[in-house]
Amino acid sequence: VRAEAASAPVTPGALADGTAVPLLANLGSPTAAAEAVELGAEGVGLFRTEFLFLSANQAPTVEQQRASYTELLKAFPGKKVVVRMLDAGADKPLPFLNDAHEDNPALGLRGLRALRQSEDILREQLTALSEAHEATRRTPEGPADLWVMAPMVSTVEETEYFVTLAREYDIKTAGVMVEVPSSALLADRVLRHADFASIGTNDLTQYTMAADRLLGSVASYQDPWHPAVLRLVREVGDAGKANGKPVGICGEAAADPLLAVVLVGLGATSLSMAPTALADVRATLLEHTLDDAVRIAEAALAADDAASARTAAQTAAAREK
Ligand code: PEP
Ligand code: MG
Repeated sequence: VRAEAASAPVTPGALADGTAVPLLANLGSPTAAAEAVELGAEGVGLFRTEFLFLSANQAPTVEQQRASYTELLKAFPGKKVVVRMLDAGADKPLPFLNDAHEDNPALGLRGLRALRQSEDILREQLTALSEAHEATRRTPEGPADLWVMAPMVSTVEETEYFVTLAREYDIKTAGVMVEVPSSALLADRVLRHADFASIGTNDLTQYTMAADRLLGSVASYQDPWHPAVLRLVREVGDAGKANGKPVGICGEAAADPLLAVVLVGLGATSLSMAPTALADVRATLLEHTLDDAVRIAEAALAADDAASARTAAQTAAAREK
């Protein structure tokens, strides 16, 4: 099976009518890059940088970060690589970032909020990324298309802050994760400043449903099929179209093939997922046109709850075929 997969070139993500939907990988370290390429990832939609920080008692140096980012960028010459700035806080405590106890860490000083209080860490990440990008310019394969994004952005002002800072480091494409309802609801304004939005459906679901994603007793609420979550995704999709800016999805929802079709119908322009999910999503996208995807999404949006949204989408999808 492996030999077959290696000999058949994987086609880029697309709908039945030829609409391109780039299929990207979520990666947690540069060592995962080779497998993602083998599985047909067209780039990286979410590179989580936490691995560099979580096992350390002190922040990694710029040199250590540069080495990791260079390894990552080298694996994707000419391809889009979206790197997320450190997403830590009281839920993933780091002694050098934030050691205060919080009763509600998901609602506390995390993501960009925490980085802003330790701006040197954010600046060091941007320095290392910019240097890594520069270093790959001199390789025969050339550089990757580096994009950076901030996690847990909840205001337009935070968006402006991050995009302005990234530009200081000569990073051309800076955007934000939309994973808090406030950012989704004001996506039209967020996208006036940001070059792109990437929807983190894991946190967007947690915050929309007010259900801690780490708490087993409320796990049934953590379902991105919920029409309330889908409405927020549509809000961002519409804002992306109005501003002519890309809207990616990088939460687990993109790995559910039928939900991936719904997300595209709501306006997502690329999907990023665990590399092992790429093949199934690629196959399902090819079964539907963009018009189909819009209709399937409308059926899901009209439901009252997550289970009925899924059933309505399945029924609509079966009708389209
Ligand atoms: C998300 O929240 O959907 C996301 C992609 O980020 P993480 O899962 O790392 O919080
Ligand atoms: Mg998140």
